[in-house]
Amino acid sequence: MHDSPPRAWAEIDLEALKHNYRFAQEQSGGAAVMAVVKANAYGHGYAKVVQALEEFSPAFYGVANVREAREVRKVLPTARVYLLGIANPSEYEEIVHSDFTPCISCMEGFHAYATLAESQQRVLKVHLALDTGMGRGGFLPDTPEFSEALAFTHPWVEVEGIGSHLPVADEDEEFTRQQITSFVKAIPPDMSFRHIANSAGLMKFQTQALNLVRPGLMLYGVSPLPEYQAALKPVMRLCSRVSIIRDIPKGQGVSYGRTFVTKRDSKIATVGIGYADGLPRAISGKGVEVWLNGTRAPIVGRVTMDQIMVDVTDLPQVHAGDVVEIFGPNVSVIQIADAAGTIPWEIFTGIAPRVVRNAEVRPFVS
Ligand SMILES: *Cc1c(COP(=O)(O)O)cnc(C)c1O
Repeated sequence: MHDSPPRAWAEIDLEALKHNYRFAQEQSGGAAVMAVVKANAYGHGYAKVVQALEEFSPAFYGVANVREAREVRKVLPTARVYLLGIANPSEYEEIVHSDFTPCISCMEGFHAYATLAESQQRVLKVHLALDTGMGRGGFLPDTPEFSEALAFTHPWVEVEGIGSHLPVADEDEEFTRQQITSFVKAIPPDMSFRHIANSAGLMKFQTQALNLVRPGLMLYGVSPLPEYQAALKPVMRLCSRVSIIRDIPKGQGVSYGRTFVTKRDSKIATVGIGYADGLPRAISGKGVEVWLNGTRAPIVGRVTMDQIMVDVTDLPQVHAGDVVEIFGPNVSVIQIADAAGTIPWEIFTGIAPRVVRNAEVRPFVS
């Protein structure tokens, strides 16, 4: 049987990933790093990403839940894995047993972990979550519950850290500064890990009081703050191929809804990627360009489930089989996100499982 090559694939540049990690380290001025690899390493693939980052020995890998924590431990059996979100009580037992590190948002959680740690005779290290403005999880500062949490001691639970989160680090400098100030005020003196900064936070608000940073997006080469974009390298290059090039006469509609009608006799390339691969249908008709044969050409008509059409009338050298870059080093993922009315985080994490992640391809196929 002949192989069925992927119609769409994502080339993952692990050297770019390492470059971005080093930049995160430099920017955070000596703080320890929690490499945020939730959601399949922002769609880039857990295994290759954590293997590559392990050369830097990050203090933690940050994930959303136990299911994701297991993926990290499959590759790195002794890595410290931090659960960024609130765990489900049914996960507590495995968290204690596997020594994953939860963050605690309520006293019920605290007591439940303590009971399990005692019954398993294992010391569990936990962090306190403090809500300084995100409104998602954590204790509120200056509340009796938070005082109770600070006073809580148990022989089988070690509170080794405290964290908070920044909702507007890339949008509202004044609010973020106030948040950091109130966080620093609330930190008890004996915490080994003090952390609040995501990518935007660590780039813009380095602060001596905090000694652990939690970069996600920037590791994958996209900066939430445009002024730092040039320092980062894109890690994912989302690609497909031209499947056919057709001569379409002036006045013919292209794709569902006939929202695009050729204004001239045209050459239209059909490319094997669509919204079922994670290319949002919402970019349809927004003039988004792809990269092929060393130049740009516009997507025309609606994005369909498995295919898009590209106007290559002005590109005489295009052939069936040519590689098309949807985003990567030549087309920013931010352009796709903007056109879809969303953010690069959502584009990355929306890349479908059927898109093959290929970390072996280096340098990028041109
Ligand atoms: C996802 C997440 C991060 C990483 O955020 P980026 O903006 O991608 O750097 C950091 N901290 C928490 C709590 C998160 O949930």
